[in-house]
Amino acid sequence: MSQNTASTTPDDRAETPSDTMVKVRDLKTYYDSGSLLEDRPVKAVDGVSFDIRRGETLGLVGESGCGKTTLGRTLIQLEEATDGEVLFDGTDITSLRGDQLYEWRQNAQMVFQDPDSSLNDRMTIGEIIREPLDVHDWKTPADRRKRVKSLLDEVGLSPEHYYRYPHQFSGGQRQRIGIARTLALNPEFIVLDEPVSALDVSVQAEIINLLEELQDEFDLTYLFIAHDLSVVRHICDRVAVMYLGNIMEIGPTEELFTDPANPYTHALLSAIPKPDPTASRDRITLHGTPPNPRYPPTGCPFSTRCPVRIRPDKHEDLDDEVWEGINGFREIIRERMRADRSIRERVRERFGLETRFATIDETYDELFGDTAVPDEVERVLTDVAEAAGNHEEQAALDRLNAEFGSVCDGVAPEGGADPVEPEYYEVSDSGRLSYCHRHDAEHRETETVLDDRS
Ligand code: SF4
Repeated sequence: MSQNTASTTPDDRAETPSDTMVKVRDLKTYYDSGSLLEDRPVKAVDGVSFDIRRGETLGLVGESGCGKTTLGRTLIQLEEATDGEVLFDGTDITSLRGDQLYEWRQNAQMVFQDPDSSLNDRMTIGEIIREPLDVHDWKTPADRRKRVKSLLDEVGLSPEHYYRYPHQFSGGQRQRIGIARTLALNPEFIVLDEPVSALDVSVQAEIINLLEELQDEFDLTYLFIAHDLSVVRHICDRVAVMYLGNIMEIGPTEELFTDPANPYTHALLSAIPKPDPTASRDRITLHGTPPNPRYPPTGCPFSTRCPVRIRPDKHEDLDDEVWEGINGFREIIRERMRADRSIRERVRERFGLETRFATIDETYDELFGDTAVPDEVERVLTDVAEAAGNHEEQAALDRLNAEFGSVCDGVAPEGGADPVEPEYYEVSDSGRLSYCHRHDAEHRETETVLDDRS
């Protein structure tokens, strides 16, 4: 999904407000499959647009595999963008090459998740922290040694640690070393990729405090990638919620946590464990797994799992159980179509022998066996089951979509190929954006469906 198909104009660049450090516009990062049989790319980041303000901490959350790390790496050019722009103070860094890129890299650094594997065990701590200074030929060797010792002090270590090796340190100390190395070249922007998730809880708090202190002292801007939502709530000024390579919602942290607007944010937040396990939980259970990013849905990226997917008018009153069964049926057929069936399995299937795939009849019985399905719906489902049973999965899906599809399945919430006014998705005065057709006036009266389930 492309959330802002209008590319940035030269005027736009000239007017970059001073409080915006990074402007990301329709950014895509695709990976080739590398297979002769499969020419569809994996769409790890699929057209995202957002700003990062100078001095803020922007959180990036979402299930694993949603593209968070790829997005972070693309922002600092550790991954090459397939399309779109990343404007740092007006310069599109996706177009930098050679010396220009090398020079710019001093401005943007990354702290990695695993302090155990991100440090070279054969180098001393001094050499590790000094390496970026050596690479960039920073001042004299004596100045570099002095700088490393002052960085050790900044991150809560001692100058005598200079000559020790990484294995002599605890996980928290190793992360401090990684942070010191990141600061060596005085960057303005740091991508923190799950910087505390590999650490004990008590150490997590220390590192979070250190990151906050360093941010104040050096005017740093952070992109904080994490799956631990309580840490994000503590440290981030704003949060972007990502799903299947797209941003679903972005806005001020407290507002988004207390009053989520997007159905995916609702589902993600409902999974946070409550302090009191006996308290009633309104957890939203998402069925199935996210789609393969090589085959994202045509419309809203969340449409295959969304518990409040908009229904077509004629099925507005269909029983919830039947509707959920239809959604499940659709997912199973999609998966069958994508499944890499071996020749052996195809032959077994051809001769009516058992395979690891359940038959469509079994699936149908499981989904609708105990449910009262209205006759006209049953007729459609029977047609669908027959097509899927004959391995005409695409025809089966087309039939399902023709009968039960809606705007969610056909149109990405940014309005398809047409440029979109951000106001369309603005859900609060703070400028919070949520990409969902439920915010459209046409479907807004049904927004209470979300509230009922959260
Ligand atoms: S656009 Fe439709 S499918 Fe997507 S989140 Fe909104 S209601 Fe759900």
